[in-house]
Amino acid sequence: MKILNPDNLRVPTEPGATPCLLGNRCRDCGCVVFPKMPVCPSCHKNGNMEEIEIGRTGKLYSHTISYFAPKGFTAPAFQIFVDLPEGPRIFSLVGAGFPVERGVLEDGMEMRLVVEPLADTAEHKEELTYKYVPAGKANGARA
Ligand SMILES: [Zn+2]
Repeated sequence: MKILNPDNLRVPTEPGATPCLLGNRCRDCGCVVFPKMPVCPSCHKNGNMEEIEIGRTGKLYSHTISYFAPKGFTAPAFQIFVDLPEGPRIFSLVGAGFPVERGVLEDGMEMRLVVEPLADTAEHKEELTYKYVPAGKANGARA
């Protein structure tokens, strides 16, 4: 297994520590972005961004079910946007253990980050990435 984007995702090895995303925060205006970018999109200063840990939790902004999958992925699958408490709204897939059907997700619900293979396929099962799952529901996914 390898982390697909180690620059964007921190997977700690210490027991009890939870994974998180790595974003940037502007030292001047406090704007937080994900993924990282060298220029602040808010105040346009260059080279003033610092790395911060974000995204351990979030709130489901919107979701849909995709019935088409590109090569190496399976369908149907949830596609979601999550609002992070630090500011960014990000695209994500949903972790395993949840049936892909209407009524499972509800916009506004609390989500939490998990680290899982990108897809359960030969092409992507060895590549770890971040996904989100409903925070309050049990599932078989690694936390
Ligand atoms: Zn700024």
